[in-house]
Amino acid sequence: MLGLMQDQPLLITTIMNYAALYHREGEVVTKAVEGGLHRTTYGEVSRRSAKLAHALTKLGINQGDCVSTMAWNSYRHLELYLAVPCKGSLLNTINPRLFPDQILYILAHSEAKILFLDLTFVPLLEKLADKITGVEKFVIMTDRAHMPETTLDNILCYEELIAPEEDQYDWPDLDENTAAIICYTSGTTGEPKGALYSHRSTVLHCFSTCSKDSLGISNRDTILPIVPMFHVNAWGTPFAAIMTGCKLVLPGADMTGENFFNLLKNEECTISLGVPTIWLALLQYANSLDGNDFTDLAIESFVIGGSAAAPSLIEDLEKTFDATVLHAWGMTETSPLGSVNRPMAKHASLSEAEKMALKIKQGRPPFGIEMKIVDDDGIEMARDGVAFGRLMVRGPWVIKAYFKQPELNILDDDGYFDTGDVSTLDTDGYMTIVDRSKDVIKSGGEWISSIDLENVALGQPQVAEAAVIGIAHPKWQERPLLIILPIPGTSPTKADILAYLDGKIAKWWTPDDVLFIDEMPHTATGKIQKRDLREIYKDYKFTD
Ligand code: ADP
Repeated sequence: MLGLMQDQPLLITTIMNYAALYHREGEVVTKAVEGGLHRTTYGEVSRRSAKLAHALTKLGINQGDCVSTMAWNSYRHLELYLAVPCKGSLLNTINPRLFPDQILYILAHSEAKILFLDLTFVPLLEKLADKITGVEKFVIMTDRAHMPETTLDNILCYEELIAPEEDQYDWPDLDENTAAIICYTSGTTGEPKGALYSHRSTVLHCFSTCSKDSLGISNRDTILPIVPMFHVNAWGTPFAAIMTGCKLVLPGADMTGENFFNLLKNEECTISLGVPTIWLALLQYANSLDGNDFTDLAIESFVIGGSAAAPSLIEDLEKTFDATVLHAWGMTETSPLGSVNRPMAKHASLSEAEKMALKIKQGRPPFGIEMKIVDDDGIEMARDGVAFGRLMVRGPWVIKAYFKQPELNILDDDGYFDTGDVSTLDTDGYMTIVDRSKDVIKSGGEWISSIDLENVALGQPQVAEAAVIGIAHPKWQERPLLIILPIPGTSPTKADILAYLDGKIAKWWTPDDVLFIDEMPHTATGKIQKRDLREIYKDYKFTD
């Protein structure tokens, strides 16, 4: 027997229409690429999205057609987030930090017909232009006064494009499983792979992120997503903001600690999200401001994800701003939020040290996400916080196949996706990433977690960034090499670092050498690029 409740499809359109009705005055603030702060409202954003949808129709964008963006976090990008999927087309957000060949691959693979780009990326596109085949128009996301001189052909100006259009649009009644957004992984090996989110998966992910045990975004928040809208939908925050009507603050192209700090302070942000390197920039800027106390700022939560949050970073952020750090885990293939670290009721009386031990875990899966860990034969392992194995996940916002790669079977027999991460699960369901399976150091049949070692090294006061890679060893198979970027103006020695590690890690984890570098390589998503480090040190040999 079937239930008799209404079968309303879960559509991004319903989020937009809800905001247009109930959050008309909700504020959207952007540090504009052209300079200055731009202020608008969800009411205006939804009207301009309707204008954009009309313009796209006139440009020949039909249902199923792909529109790509190469853009910072801004109100115009937000309009694209709504107009494109709500008219039944496919939005593809491209990470401009990828290698040019990867960008070209994505444009071709997604069959993008139009590319919307911020002023900042015009020079990049000019260099690629003669290798781009399918893109018919480039829309520069600015007004006439700021249109650049460019060698690009077929360019349009965003504001001119939408200006003459009607601000109401007859949005189609889509099937909730209609494809909405495609994000490509930054793929450390091979070509980037596409995760194709549907309206349904996006809405369910959005509901989940707003729940109190997850990011807990509500109408009373002011949210500053520093994680870019070109990387996994800025962790879904644009949709969560539109759904709740909270004030949304978008940092634009200015990725400096100074901009983050000023927005945080002047716009009274309560939640901000980003990868660890972002918070280092914020802290470095805050520390450069003499004699200031930032504990009375409105900020309540910093969400750290994308890479492991080290205890020293958590402590610094919490102390400097009197805020709470929420550690979260996810990946492009999981929309991305797969776990968030919130304490449970029973943790209220934990000591500070116990709280920190809990906080550095990557968190519990929200309702909807199921997790298990398995050994190399796919056999499920104990949830005891000790056993570690391959982390497998399933749920309504987890990928089932990559875009245009149906032949690639990426699920196990029970429908779980292999994340490529190695982790533990404890009895309460808190997941801890031990390592990415390719980063773990295999020493004498045992595993050393590069993340754990890095986290400890980061506690040394002269260490800005730390990376551990495995180096081939004749006796132990692999041994850890610790590579350090010192804090500017300091020059720690190997002996300083090893003395600091002594007693904080198991003896046999002690790195066989410590090297110092001037610049740490990062991936397009701001993580330490271990592949480059492995390449640089491929001929490195330990001396004893
Ligand atoms: P990219 O490799 O393009 O950055 P993703 O954003 O999809 O792609 O990266 C997902 C991976 O990032 C995860 O599989 C995991 O290895 C790592 N990751 C994400 N969050 C955390 C975290 N909190 N702690 C440790 N690793 C994390």
